[in-house]
Amino acid sequence: MSKAQSTDDELFDEFLSANGHETEPAGWDESYNKKQCPECSGLNDQAATACSVCGWQPGR
Ligand SMILES: [Zn+2]
Repeated sequence: MSKAQSTDDELFDEFLSANGHETEPAGWDESYNKKQCPECSGLNDQAATACSVCGWQPGR
């Protein structure tokens, strides 16, 4: 039943587009096993959900 799965993926893409999100949201850069902020190049722990330096969050 690959047809049903394909339809779900298409609906999910449409959902993201309808809410103003890119299908490939911005994410962390990786550096020396740390997360590197693409905005200020600050290094954060792998568990970080937002940059501790400038407050940037992935997907924005
Ligand atoms: Zn930052």
